[in-house]
Amino acid sequence: MPILKENKSLYPDNWKQIRAEILNRDHHKCKWCRLPNYAVGYRDHSGEFIPNGGNLYCDAAGCGELEYVEAREMVKEYNSWHSEEYRWIVIVLTIAHLDHDPQNNDFENLAALCQRCHNRHDIKDRQRNRKKRITKDQFELAI
Ligand SMILES: [Zn+2]
Repeated sequence: MPILKENKSLYPDNWKQIRAEILNRDHHKCKWCRLPNYAVGYRDHSGEFIPNGGNLYCDAAGCGELEYVEAREMVKEYNSWHSEEYRWIVIVLTIAHLDHDPQNNDFENLAALCQRCHNRHDIKDRQRNRKKRITKDQFELAI
């Protein structure tokens, strides 16, 4: 799950260091769909990422060396002169706990994922938890 203010206390003090190590281990690419950190582009109607720069190509900002602020500036500029049909985005990798336990920081349990893959991973967990809650509620009703 992405770090939210309310669950920040579940993460260790050295989380920033762990995060950096996982990003390096995963070569600054989403472990599942392989999109690079700070790639710039948009998702089409099917959800496919259409790259247009950032860390995918050499561009005015350099060859695969964009920092987040530069990528954000690029997106801001694209969004100012493109139609509203597609919203340009920056791919930002986050670190996922594959077992959904933010306290299990075993490196085998961590993966650099893009927003889309991370959300898809978390949705499965949320659906599982919802089913558990329903089962528990049904159980309590049956008592
Ligand atoms: Zn991904």
